[in-house]
Amino acid sequence: MNGLMTLTACGPWNFSSSVGETNYQKALSEYPAQAIVDLAALKANMQRLVSIVGASSSAGSADPDHAATAVMGVVKADAYGHGLLPSALAALAGGATWLGTAQPREALLLRKAGIGADRAHILTWLYNGTAAPFAEMIESDIDISVGSFAGIEAIAAAAASCGKCARVHVKVDTGFGRNGFTPEAFDAAVASLRLHESEGTLKVVAIWSHLAVADMPKEPDFVAATDQQVRVFEQFVARAERGGLHPEMRHLANTAATLMRPEIHYELTRPGIALYGYEPDPSMGVAGDFGLQPAMTLQAQLATVKDVEKGHGISYGRTYLTSGPTSTAVVPVGYADGIHRSASGANALGAGGKKAVHEGGPVRVMTSQGPRICHVSGRVCMDQFVMDLGGFARDLGVSEGDTVELFGPGRGAALAEPTADDWAASAQTISYEIFTCLRNRIPRLYLHAAETLGAADLEKLDPASLL
Ligand SMILES: *Cc1c(COP(=O)(O)O)cnc(C)c1O
Repeated sequence: MNGLMTLTACGPWNFSSSVGETNYQKALSEYPAQAIVDLAALKANMQRLVSIVGASSSAGSADPDHAATAVMGVVKADAYGHGLLPSALAALAGGATWLGTAQPREALLLRKAGIGADRAHILTWLYNGTAAPFAEMIESDIDISVGSFAGIEAIAAAAASCGKCARVHVKVDTGFGRNGFTPEAFDAAVASLRLHESEGTLKVVAIWSHLAVADMPKEPDFVAATDQQVRVFEQFVARAERGGLHPEMRHLANTAATLMRPEIHYELTRPGIALYGYEPDPSMGVAGDFGLQPAMTLQAQLATVKDVEKGHGISYGRTYLTSGPTSTAVVPVGYADGIHRSASGANALGAGGKKAVHEGGPVRVMTSQGPRICHVSGRVCMDQFVMDLGGFARDLGVSEGDTVELFGPGRGAALAEPTADDWAASAQTISYEIFTCLRNRIPRLYLHAAETLGAADLEKLDPASLL
């Protein structure tokens, strides 16, 4: 009965069935916060990306020697915190034909879950060449990035031992300064790869690289730096061809370049953050400008709500003092859940004499007068933070057990709905880190699974996670 008396700043959620509603109520009783991931939004975002690259390959810019552009859903880091398998399946439902993970383990998990090679190519790109499970990857038809001599030798040896040719994507460093062969090392790399190709242990499927600053298309220096990376990439491709390698595919574009640079889509693009409904950098605009919808809503149920007098210190360090009599509410998520401590709030009254002012992370709170934004007031603690409600709870109709929303799709300013970009701004980071930091005390619950996935895919998911 308690549930009926509380207000909620989220939803109403469109449960697929009474089982979904039961799962939801169970999650509310077991955990103080929940991440609701809309699989229909993930699918729609992928459909949007597929249509963007489809437009670029049919616009006449496509090279007749190369195939139309495919899209890889980048699902590394547990699909940017959204859940590896549900997100991968939604990406495939939206038309992705490739999946990408950083770690071999994640790629193998996708294959073990039954995503076969007939359904999706999977590329993985980060490992140490002495310990990675190369033979298992080769046997599981997982494409492997190679950007070092140690890597070439380790993959070739594993391929020889299992008697199957490994599909490799040669990573080149076009200016990012992270993985991949440098121009200086490239002739030797090509010669080595050629040798292994002739022995039948390796097949060079692709040549690829990663962009450093494509997410700032309004900064002339960064545009020039990306142009330079593209030129260097083309030189690597030409050198590979001259050296006798004939990769079918070239790929360079992350989300930013998928959205902004159709001329470098090549045969494959690798969007990550766009799948989850965000633009890479707020300077590019908002997700809606690109036809994308944020897929995750993070909500929590209020613990203690109480009245405090003027000048009351809030949380560790007294960085926030109430400016008048008010009510506070405890939100039971903290830095141990991935709520950034840098999104703490400080007002001019607090800060132990330092008088620093910093607006804490925003939270949508439902009141009897409609939604309002409150902010983290004082420091984020390990398990919780406090919000100054800016008025008395009894006047606002706010009480313990109410559901508040830390971020969601961002349905317009009038609805006072923050997004992960707003949290990123407060925490001085990027939306990517806001999602990937969310830890497993916050269950991921999936909305619209039945509408988005086929029956065989639905069966692969934890039934308790479906709403
Ligand atoms: C993470 C990653 C991507 C996706 O980047 P977004 O900015 O999220 O689109 C693409 N390629 C590589 C190599 C990556 O590591």
